[in-house]
Amino acid sequence: MSVKTYDEDNIFARILRGEIPCDKLDECEHTLCFRDINPQAPVHLLVIPKGAFVDWDDFAAHASATEQAAFVRAVGRAAKLAGVDASGWRLLSNIGAHGHQEVPHLHVHILGGEPIGPLRAR
Ligand code: 5GP
Repeated sequence: MSVKTYDEDNIFARILRGEIPCDKLDECEHTLCFRDINPQAPVHLLVIPKGAFVDWDDFAAHASATEQAAFVRAVGRAAKLAGVDASGWRLLSNIGAHGHQEVPHLHVHILGGEPIGPLRAR
């Protein structure tokens, strides 16, 4: 099993420590949801676990069932709070180099507020 090293100084770790601000939409014991600083759609949210997980693989393998359930529920709650639950939205997570993950702390993107288009334009 490969173990990925968590970078304690990544930008989302710093947001979680309160060292840099974020535009928070929702928070619970295990998760934080805030608006992306460079939105790609009218609604562009990020949901992150508070635990130190590099990506989805790490979270799936090492997070507790409580943390995983809280994360799934936080995503659903965020879509409702943002008002895109009726119109539809996209959920995605970039993982690793080929996934174009830029911040090495697990996050999912919630995109909506207009038709998002096909998954991939080449
Ligand atoms: P990734 O490519 O890793 O899936 O996405 C990282 C996302 O984090 C990008 O959409 C980027 O705009 C966002 N981001 C990077 N730095 C910050 C920041 O300091 N604050 C917020 N709110 N979003 C950030």
